[in-house]
Amino acid sequence: MSSFSENSWNPWHGCTKISPGCKFCYVYRQDARYGSAVESSLCRKTASFRLPLQIRRTGEYKLAPGSVIYTCFTSDFLLEDADIWRAECWEMMRFRSDLFFYFFTKRIDRLEQCLPPDWGNGYENVIIGCTVENQDRSDYRLPIFKALPIRHKTVIVAPMIGPVDLSPYLDESIEEVSVSGESGVDVRPLYYDWVLDLRAQCMEAGVPFIFHQTGATLIKDGKRYSIPRREQIAQARKAGIDYPARTDSAPDKGNIELY
Ligand code: SF4
Repeated sequence: MSSFSENSWNPWHGCTKISPGCKFCYVYRQDARYGSAVESSLCRKTASFRLPLQIRRTGEYKLAPGSVIYTCFTSDFLLEDADIWRAECWEMMRFRSDLFFYFFTKRIDRLEQCLPPDWGNGYENVIIGCTVENQDRSDYRLPIFKALPIRHKTVIVAPMIGPVDLSPYLDESIEEVSVSGESGVDVRPLYYDWVLDLRAQCMEAGVPFIFHQTGATLIKDGKRYSIPRREQIAQARKAGIDYPARTDSAPDKGNIELY
């Protein structure tokens, strides 16, 4: 997928919709844009399945040591249809302990049954982002997420389609909360007041907060703004509301398309 950086790994592609945040799923949108002949709901292994092990002619790994690898962004890593392939992915993750693998999921309730036998308290090099889109999905997924043995946990509020009170779930076990609006055509708007409110909750709890992207429609001070896709990340950054304030050395998701 063209919008992904070279630090991404999509071992399979295609996903089924499971919650309100999936309504305008970016995987479906991208497939439609590129005229994919295959149904987006059909999950299939990609040619990149073994990318973490692939080596260039120069003898170096294609995925450079020390990188954060955005994993399975054209599907959901915990999708049922991929159960038969996941064990091999865990093995590659374990083998490439010099990389950080970062995946988001709306299926955190499946994690426990999907873990490898030696998971223990989690692999040090795996970061898991629990995605929530509204209060209802937050109240369902976050208690499950909080109880799971994971070394690095983040919360991805995307696409934010309603105000959320995450304060019951925010503490030092959450390394970051990231917010994004919804991209696409005729999408649900993001209210800036919701973003500021969530930021205040994060500040209160001492949890880092990132406004990743605005989405296509932002409502601020009662005014509706239509924001082209190419400007949504830059506009969020311009708001200057990340907590702590962003520095040039801060890790960056770059142009990774989330929603
Ligand atoms: S990729 Fe994510 S947003 Fe798209 S259908 Fe799957 S779970 Fe939903």
